[in-house]
Amino acid sequence: MTQEVPPSPVPATPSVSAAAWPSGPGRLPEADVIVVGAGPAGSAAACYLARSGLDVLLLEKATFPREKVCGDGLTPRAVKALVGMGVPIGEEDGWLRNKGLRVIGGGFRLELPWPELSSYPGYGLVRSRLDFDETLARAAQRAGARLLEGVTVTGPVLDRTGRMAGVTARPTAAPEEPDVTYRARVVVAADGNSSRLSLAMGLRKRDDRPLGVAVRTYYTSPRHEDDWLEAWLDLWDGGQQLPGYGWIFGMGDGTSNVGLGLLNTSASFGHVDYRELLRRWLAGMPAEWGYTEQNRTAPIRGAALPMGFNRTPHYTRGLLLAGDSGGMVNPFNGEGIAYAMEAGQLAAEVIAQALARPGAAGAERVLAGYPRALKDAYGGYYTLARTFVTAIGHPRFMQFATRHGMPRPALMRFVVKLLGNLTDPRAGDAADRVINALSKMTPAA
Ligand SMILES: Cc1cc2nc3c(=O)[nH]c(=O)nc-3n(C[C@H](O)[C@H](O)[C@H](O)COP(=O)(O)OP(=O)(O)OC[C@H]3O[C@@H](n4cnc5c(N)ncnc54)[C@H](O)[C@@H]3O)c2cc1C
Repeated sequence: MTQEVPPSPVPATPSVSAAAWPSGPGRLPEADVIVVGAGPAGSAAACYLARSGLDVLLLEKATFPREKVCGDGLTPRAVKALVGMGVPIGEEDGWLRNKGLRVIGGGFRLELPWPELSSYPGYGLVRSRLDFDETLARAAQRAGARLLEGVTVTGPVLDRTGRMAGVTARPTAAPEEPDVTYRARVVVAADGNSSRLSLAMGLRKRDDRPLGVAVRTYYTSPRHEDDWLEAWLDLWDGGQQLPGYGWIFGMGDGTSNVGLGLLNTSASFGHVDYRELLRRWLAGMPAEWGYTEQNRTAPIRGAALPMGFNRTPHYTRGLLLAGDSGGMVNPFNGEGIAYAMEAGQLAAEVIAQALARPGAAGAERVLAGYPRALKDAYGGYYTLARTFVTAIGHPRFMQFATRHGMPRPALMRFVVKLLGNLTDPRAGDAADRVINALSKMTPAA
């Protein structure tokens, strides 16, 4: 694995002077932009920043390849984001394509192809996060970003005005070593759900936004080459249908990624034993599929899904949030990778424009527009999604929706577009127009 030579760090200081803001040749900081975290959000941000000609430092606490608890499922939205980054996605490159969603629930089984649109490809992908994230990080490196692996960011460095002027960091493998300071004009927090950097800047999670919890594991299975993403709606806690779904995604490598996710909008949330629920759900599967303890190849691991902008504002004092750090998972379906990559790209575009302004005040004005740009892109849709997840938090509604939706394939095709946020903005069909109009009419919050 190649690793770039790190820039010579300067000794840590709790605060550096405002001179970290460049005002002419020879006074450049160590990088134009520091991106913290090389997940999908961070690597996308670093890739687009480097393509804009900026000097980017991408700091990642882990060393690739590294595991990330995930379903490994990519919708056409994520495929589009990968194409945009220039990542090769051929089957010969190890990607398994899928045609759409197979939904099972209420005694029905429907295969719903991804919609044919001009804005998105008509297929999805599956790829283990073990090498998916490394592939993206290497793409950012190829674009010119300086990737430092095994470097844990420990906190912000502030200038006299309280604006971020860099970060402190230390080697992940040697936490006893003193912090070093990396300076930059702008910092992107792409450090995932817990986002210590955002917390250190006073940005906490919002309780009024939805949150999911999901668990997953892998089993060897003859279904490993399934070319549909399979979702099961029948998750029960006693007599109550739970708001969420179970998934089975073939990995193409002899295993299936199997997991389930639930929303915090039901009374059961917080009381459910996820591992037990997973076992109970799988106990009802045909034995020949192989989803048994003997075939389990990995521990059952879980993590939170921060949804619907559950950390705001997305810009404060030199720090932009992208991906899970800013709670950008789609509440309708739990998809986070595409939104992380799109937000990374958007953050990069805003930063490139900001740093091209001649003075600090002009740059600041552009950076302050980032939350607005995010709201324009997703605000109305996420507000709509919050209404939906509140509704399905009522067990009777979830049961009603499954029972009355599943027998109606035309309605379910609409649901796939709505839940996957897959529409054409112009010249789409009636479903596209309804979804776009609803998203536009719903206030972004
Ligand atoms: C069980 C489960 C299943 C899921 N399934 C899917 C799915 O099938 N499809 C989908 O689209 N989404 C899925 N998601 C959501 C998806 O995983 C996330 O939304 C996505 O990973 C967000 O990307 P990110 O770049 O914002 O954050 P992350 O992927 O979490 O990346 C953050 C990076 O920052 C690094 N980092 C953290 N702190 C520091 C620090 N202090 N210093 C340096 N580096 C740091 C981490 O090591 C990590 O590499 C699932 C989530 C869960 C929990």
